[in-house]
Amino acid sequence: MVRGALVAVGDELVSGRVLNTTSFEAARILSSYGYRILEMVSVGDEKEVIAYHLQRLLREVDFLVVSGGLGPTEDDLTVEAAARALGLPLRLHQGILVRIRENEKAQGLAENPLRDKMAYLPEGAEPLSRDLSVAGFFLRHQGKLLFFLPGIPEQFQRLLVDRALPILLEAFPPEEEVFVRTLRFFDLREAEINQAVRERDLSGVEVGFYPVFPEVRVTLISRAKNLEEARKRVFSLVEFLRGRFPEHLFGEDEEELPAALGKLLRERSQTLSLAESCTGGLASSLVTRIPGSSDYFLGGAVTYANQAKKEILGVPERFLRLFGAVSREVARAMAEGVRRRFGATYGLSVTGIAGPGGGSPEKPVGTVWMGLSTPTETVARHFLFPGTRHEIQTLAAYTLLDWLRR
Ligand code: ATP
Ligand code: MG
Repeated sequence: MVRGALVAVGDELVSGRVLNTTSFEAARILSSYGYRILEMVSVGDEKEVIAYHLQRLLREVDFLVVSGGLGPTEDDLTVEAAARALGLPLRLHQGILVRIRENEKAQGLAENPLRDKMAYLPEGAEPLSRDLSVAGFFLRHQGKLLFFLPGIPEQFQRLLVDRALPILLEAFPPEEEVFVRTLRFFDLREAEINQAVRERDLSGVEVGFYPVFPEVRVTLISRAKNLEEARKRVFSLVEFLRGRFPEHLFGEDEEELPAALGKLLRERSQTLSLAESCTGGLASSLVTRIPGSSDYFLGGAVTYANQAKKEILGVPERFLRLFGAVSREVARAMAEGVRRRFGATYGLSVTGIAGPGGGSPEKPVGTVWMGLSTPTETVARHFLFPGTRHEIQTLAAYTLLDWLRR
């Protein structure tokens, strides 16, 4: 398999000020083309350390993708480090120098000799940007390919995909095709999915588990000589898991749980309204994060105080007095009230104790009641969620939407 490594340069990355997203993006893109990434290294602005890692990695890999440190300032040391690591002199690239002067003129800036630095590349290097508008170059060295790209994520990604990738694909055609699919589960434990997966012959599919609270993601990866073969293997496992967990598997790849609910509502031309207490509007926020949610979401009410539950949703005073705000009766009345108020097909409600205070022996922290009012009936469900205030609120909001989705 063709092997590569990624190096991200910058003090901002190793001091925790900026998250290294360029390596993440590059790893995702390059892996999907069948390249194996051996290492992702983040290095501060230290010439010797950058040079050390370049030399070290070049012994192990076929190609390197380096990001950052190409600018004109003194802390931009990547080019000098590369020249040192490879034992190459720096050479002036006349075209880049001309372009720098033109840019200065176009932007009304004074000529600044500091910028000349950006016109010097290691001998044999070629700029990646066709019109030289963005820093970045590549070079071949002892059978290896090295790419040097800007650290600014948008520039990095554009240059990687448009310019570096075609050069890489030509120099090192991937030996195998890769097909990747991520399945997303809610309200199901990793161990249960793992157990189901183990009943199957997994020949040729790597299975990875990635819990991303509050869901579990399962990545299926297959490598084969041709894409169709890889796709077939993955799809066969997808079919199996869909059949096994039809209710818990809510989406694939980028599909969010509220989007899965939205899709169903749109298909059936139905509408939704939400009455929230302990989630403080989180469920409504999740629903409206999905573009086009106005097709089915009519609105919601955050009724935190009893007064609001009474006045806005018409929850009877005696329910609040007899059963308390966190109760089957109040959840039902909230769902009915919000459905009526918005004239929606469905009214969903949630009322609970998110903690850390406010619990009691009968209603401990994490106690949540939810209501669902439909054109034909109103039902309620009880839950006891574990975790912190934030976790209980998140679980409650997702569970509420998941309930209707199922
Ligand atoms: P410039 O010409 O702007 O100096 P450069 O290639 O030298 O480009 P850097 O100066 O290293 O890039 O980084 C520019 C900005 O891009 C940084 O301030 C940082 O916010 C962002 N950046 C750099 N590297 C990364 C990275 N690996 N992931 C995410 N953001 C990054
Ligand atoms: Mg930098």
